[in-house]
Amino acid sequence: MFEKVLIANRGEIALRVHRACREMGIRTVAVHSTADSDAMHVRLADESVCIGPPPARDSYLNVPSIIAAVEVTGADAIHPGYGFLSENADFARIVAAHGITLIGPEVRHIEMMGDKVAAREALGRLGVPLVPGSDGPVPDAAAARAAAAEIGYPVLVKAASGGGGRGMKLAEQAEGLDEAFATARREAGEAFDDDTVYLEKYLEAPRHIEIQIMADSHGAVVHFGERDCSIQRRHQKLIEESPSPILSAESREDIAARALAAIKRLGYRGAGTLEFLYQDGAFYFIEMNTRLQVEHPVTEMITGIDLVREQIRIAAGAPLGYGQSDIRFHGHAIECRVCAESPETFRPSPGTVTDYHPPGGLGVRVDSALYSGYTVPPYYDSMVAKLIVHGANREECLMRLRRSLEEFVIDGMETTLALHRRVTDDSEFAEGRYDIHWLERMMTAPNGEARP
Ligand code: ADP
Repeated sequence: MFEKVLIANRGEIALRVHRACREMGIRTVAVHSTADSDAMHVRLADESVCIGPPPARDSYLNVPSIIAAVEVTGADAIHPGYGFLSENADFARIVAAHGITLIGPEVRHIEMMGDKVAAREALGRLGVPLVPGSDGPVPDAAAARAAAAEIGYPVLVKAASGGGGRGMKLAEQAEGLDEAFATARREAGEAFDDDTVYLEKYLEAPRHIEIQIMADSHGAVVHFGERDCSIQRRHQKLIEESPSPILSAESREDIAARALAAIKRLGYRGAGTLEFLYQDGAFYFIEMNTRLQVEHPVTEMITGIDLVREQIRIAAGAPLGYGQSDIRFHGHAIECRVCAESPETFRPSPGTVTDYHPPGGLGVRVDSALYSGYTVPPYYDSMVAKLIVHGANREECLMRLRRSLEEFVIDGMETTLALHRRVTDDSEFAEGRYDIHWLERMMTAPNGEARP
């Protein structure tokens, strides 16, 4: 087992990884920018190293500084968390060249899944159902028109290297395609340094349902069920739950079995998530994430398994040590992502926490690096806390979630807590009747209800 792990991240996820390490008797090294000297992840870690000035490209994305921090502290592994360098194949290659273990999958799989066109091809070949789409990348507007005619409108032009809900343009019909193609291509080049785009059929009212898998280096593969992440704004998740309120046991088993079979054939190692759209009883693969997800706690709450500990054990070469039938699912869990943003305009609202009171009690978990007096810096992602609640069933979970949201106090800045209160009070949400557009409809509906 590792003796010392360097955590190449900040905020709640750096704390999350630190906690797993602590419980396993592993020492931790925090890295931080000059804007984060007072951050909780720095305070809790056994050691810390300043890796650069506030902008992420000069600190949390600064590979030479991070490698130097590993060498100075003698850490034997790096946990990248999510975001930042977690899906960067070049980083993974450099880490390996320095004889350091990256707690994550092999470079070839990070690379394959980082290219959504390659991911579609690979998983489609292995029997995973895909969203109908172009056969590979679409090089020019003429090829886009030909592919769209075959797929049928509406279509989405998507960036092969896209992420974070960016790099997608909708063409409702043929007239809009040239513009969608040109815009998507330009934006993809600017945002991801890769202007490769492809086409997918635009599904009108799907749910986003994803399967969590874990594979060791000895050929064992398991799944931890699904997460329903359909409560989104601008294609970004705000609330996630498990199990999905609409999935039957048969559909769950079917899609999980197909995902596992594909993962096994790929020879994948580590934690991974296969993301699907689900509409009219059918699953359509959209992408695979080769890292820990923000929403992993809902899975931990219903399985009782520490996914970060599993990642660390697997990276150290340990076998999973259990099979699918050993994984039991209990009750229901929902996560709310709380951001330092206006709950109406979503304008970032960084500031100093004047009062902080996280909710507690049975089945309530708060993953956050906030503390009273802490100043949220303006340089990074605005998510400041995750509230995760577990109940014996969805009804109890929702009741407990509403109560927890009432208790939660974060003063000194605007947060999206008010939006979460509004969603969890909504009757359609309570009935589990929502798709990926529901939240945006609800926010614009005059009576607060998201009727289509
Ligand atoms: P990213 O990597 O940027 O998160 P994804 O491909 O995972 O991009 O898609 C993110 C979200 O965008 C999905 O959860 C869904 O809301 C929407 N989306 C993606 N592809 C489609 C599609 N073909 N039809 C409708 N919505 C889509």
